[in-house]
Amino acid sequence: MALDSRTPSGPIEQLWDRARFEMKLVNPANKRKHDILVVGSGLAGASAAASLAELGYHVKCFCFQDSPRRAHSIAAQGGINAAKNYRNDGDSVYRLFYDTVKGGDFRSREANVYRLAQISVNIIDQCVAQGVPFAREYGGMLDNRSFGGAQVSRTFYARGQTGQQLLLGAYQALERQIGAGTVTMFPRTEMLDLVVIDGKARGIVTRDLNTGRIESHVADAVVLGTGGYGNVYYLSTNARGSNCTASWRSHKRGALFANPCFTQIHPTCIPVSGDYQSKLTLMSESLRNDGRIWVPKKGGDKRAPKQIPEDDRDYYLERRYPSFGNLVPRDVASRNAKAVCDEGRGVGPGGLGVYLDFSDAIKRLGENVIRERYGNLFDMYERITNENPYKVPMRIYPAIHYTMGGLWVDYYLMSTIPGLFVIGEANFSDHGANRLGASALMQGLADGYFVLPYTIGDYIAKNKFDKVDVSHAEFRGAEEGVRAMTGRLLSIKGTRTVDSFHRELGRLVWDDCGMSRTGARLDLAIHKIRALREEYWQNVNVPGGSDDLNQSLEKAGRVADFFELAELMCIDGLQRNESCGAHFREEYQTADGEAQRKDAEFSYVSAWKYKGSDHEPELHKEPLEFEYVHPSQRSYK
Ligand SMILES: Cc1cc2nc3c(=O)[nH]c(=O)nc-3n(C[C@H](O)[C@H](O)[C@H](O)COP(=O)(O)OP(=O)(O)OC[C@H]3O[C@@H](n4cnc5c(N)ncnc54)[C@H](O)[C@@H]3O)c2cc1C
Repeated sequence: MALDSRTPSGPIEQLWDRARFEMKLVNPANKRKHDILVVGSGLAGASAAASLAELGYHVKCFCFQDSPRRAHSIAAQGGINAAKNYRNDGDSVYRLFYDTVKGGDFRSREANVYRLAQISVNIIDQCVAQGVPFAREYGGMLDNRSFGGAQVSRTFYARGQTGQQLLLGAYQALERQIGAGTVTMFPRTEMLDLVVIDGKARGIVTRDLNTGRIESHVADAVVLGTGGYGNVYYLSTNARGSNCTASWRSHKRGALFANPCFTQIHPTCIPVSGDYQSKLTLMSESLRNDGRIWVPKKGGDKRAPKQIPEDDRDYYLERRYPSFGNLVPRDVASRNAKAVCDEGRGVGPGGLGVYLDFSDAIKRLGENVIRERYGNLFDMYERITNENPYKVPMRIYPAIHYTMGGLWVDYYLMSTIPGLFVIGEANFSDHGANRLGASALMQGLADGYFVLPYTIGDYIAKNKFDKVDVSHAEFRGAEEGVRAMTGRLLSIKGTRTVDSFHRELGRLVWDDCGMSRTGARLDLAIHKIRALREEYWQNVNVPGGSDDLNQSLEKAGRVADFFELAELMCIDGLQRNESCGAHFREEYQTADGEAQRKDAEFSYVSAWKYKGSDHEPELHKEPLEFEYVHPSQRSYK
């Protein structure tokens, strides 16, 4: 299969204008005749559903939570990037583009990233107009702070609750359309299959999570804004419900899955505290604006942090990366934290932790300023650890946080199945092998408010849609498949819980396809995952039935998909015999331990075609060309 990214040609700064001009439009009166399904109500899904409905389309929007307002996006803490240059510190669209391509270690598509940087400035205007309460400076201007991988301040924020405030904006826009009757909302409804008719996405099959009712929905286009798959690792900073089912089932219907091994480990999370923990908590990257990261110089130093004098401390990021210091990108910060802990210099129980210390900032700015900037994060930390971060340094350790991989999409955000569009974290599009902080919110809202509303119109205007309804054989077959899978899971009646399998799978993926990988370990992991998956289908115990609320059943289906995805992640990591961004293969590193890319061989997007659960997937490659930001060894020194 030739992967055509449909990237327009011409100077990069004119591509999006040109593409929009060349797109076919749907007459306003005709928009009413088209139905669009938007699966997901996070920042990507809610902004898309509201914008499409405002344009005049009939929209149905689905989420598995009880309200769109509870999508995982609400958890985002630190901020959202935009090239507004309010600080007059040298920012520009081009610099945001450059930082993002470089931050992604030259594994993203230049044209998409440039468009993202261009649109970033509109997002802030849109959100301010909606009433999002971004932090402001004394004079009333919007305030900014810095995030990793950038030397300018371009991150807009609302204390440590940026995602929540942005989601409230998108949610209100969505609610307005629900009130106007242009969006029908389906909360507590999970998409379990995609229906493809004559090669085009024409609908989905859902299960009502309260009643167990299986239902089909027909449309002219389907949009997935279903988030990332970080929970494949079991322990992650993602909401517990986040999962890969919508993407994975669409993958099984023909959508190619891109760069599955590109998963992001965030350097500043509260360390794991015990075997029965089910969730990890992020301490936002924004804290690295004022917090300094250090460990004792000598291994095994058990003194309390305050008793360790300056001379005995190693501020290892400031030492190794003087230009970016504590604000190096996440992959670099995470690997360095792992390295000092592997040397036996980690702090806290088990030695898996490093200090994030605010004492200098408190001395310089006063406790009140720090409280104003990060108060809710400090409170959260204290509630979880029972330690007061105003008095003792926080202890942090890397944890899985975000997934750069996802369904492959072209410049128009369309997957390899015509009519199936993928937005937000669910697609692979803009972040390459490593996402810079504060750029996921930017991408989700760019996709939903500003890209998809154009590109989906172009698709609708250029295609004819035969009338189909839910009695079509493809819908019937998909419903039967969903019922059969549910029935099978319930009938196994084995001895292990879904969670026990998920925990074991997560540990395996974390150890072998996590912060650092080797070919031998990935190879072994593939065999171990296959064996565990086999045991799952013989020995899982899913209590209850299918006709009412059954959270074990919900989880069982999602974990079944995680098993298959985990295997693909390892297969992808194994074929990529290089290190790039967050994909760190120990065999490929520079003399001072940085990721060593091999551009001549691996400058491509790996996109996988599903060939059956017992068959090897098929690799397709989208070559990446860099006309503007020339690939170089990434340096933050
Ligand atoms: C703790 C934390 C903090 C973060 N902070 C930041 C930050 O400061 N800045 C930043 O840029 N990024 C941040 N991120 C990343 C960012 O929050 C996410 O990438 C982004 O919110 C994802 O948005 P989304 O709309 O793509 O998906 P989500 O918000 O995950 O929404 C997914 C939606 O899809 C629905 N869904 C999923 N599957 C199905 C299905 N099968 N059927 C029906 N519905 C389904 C869900 O119900 C939900 O509505 C953070 C992430 C975490 C974990």
